[in-house]
Amino acid sequence: MTISGKELADSIIGRIASEVEDYHVRFGRVPALAVILVGEDPASKVYVRNKTRACERAGIRHIEITLPEDTSELEILENIEALNADPSVDGILVQLPLPAHLSESHITGAIAREKDVDGFHPLNVAALWLGRDNAKIEEHYPVACTPRGIMRILEAAGVDPAGKRAVVIGRSNIVGLPIAKLLLNANATVTICHSRTKDIAEITRQADILVAAIGKPKFVGAEMVRDSAVVVDVGINRLPDGKLCGDVDFEAVAPRASVITPVPGGVGPMTVCSLMENTIDCYLRHTAKRKKRKI
Ligand code: NAP
Repeated sequence: MTISGKELADSIIGRIASEVEDYHVRFGRVPALAVILVGEDPASKVYVRNKTRACERAGIRHIEITLPEDTSELEILENIEALNADPSVDGILVQLPLPAHLSESHITGAIAREKDVDGFHPLNVAALWLGRDNAKIEEHYPVACTPRGIMRILEAAGVDPAGKRAVVIGRSNIVGLPIAKLLLNANATVTICHSRTKDIAEITRQADILVAAIGKPKFVGAEMVRDSAVVVDVGINRLPDGKLCGDVDFEAVAPRASVITPVPGGVGPMTVCSLMENTIDCYLRHTAKRKKRKI
């Protein structure tokens, strides 16, 4: 089964849009997301455009702040401070990567924790790692968008991680580590692999659920995957011919997998969808009128 993250994201965003209409009537304003883009990185511009389009579809007000490449850290921090203090703004994100003269950790750490829709604030990361129960952490604190989207994909595919062996390739702060913790919270037995892991195929072949977040085209071949595994491909790589491909060799692995996500159209759209969900959750916590959402 190939899971279309695009279709899943479209249906969740459609449902968010009708919820937002309802919130507008009940609470007198729609949720708002501010996006700060520094510099001219073409990939970042595309990501920001995708995010603002998703906001439009979801009925979320979006504020775009575009700053030149040579903007000082102080100026960015002043922008963040103003957005932190603005009660009409629910979520703030700074598009990464930032130009080399800027500290990503200073800047993302300056976003108010309760408006941190990317889930990168140290206190939100700590909340994820300190959580001892298996309650849905995202109901209380923002969780990084890509891992949240992956858990949504598993849910939609009817995959319950409890008791399963999960292997995550990659240990980045934005994907590998948080998805490993979410899978652990969901009672999977989790192994994290990285560039220094020996005999990686021997480990990945044991996976009931395999998450590839490496950044190397077609790294995961059929020989690395056990029969009927669930394979989630996070990678986004551009091939010399300009086409996008994932970290998984889709053609080779799909016949073995019980569930697989394509690239493009898999985890990517669900990451943007999770950003919409994080924004709504921040808004609901912000308006202190949180209700149990149906989706
Ligand atoms: P990253 O920070 O570069 O991390 C890559 C990870 O892969 C590192 O932990 C690295 O190990 C590991 N790795 C590299 N080579 C390896 C090898 N030969 N064997 C085993 N592990 C290896 O990347 P990231 O930010 O996590 O992103 C990973 C991929 O996902 C990229 O293609 C990125 O574009 C994509 N991505 C997609 C989305 C989406 O929405 N779909 C979101 C975020 C990222 P070390 O730690 O040892 O260096």
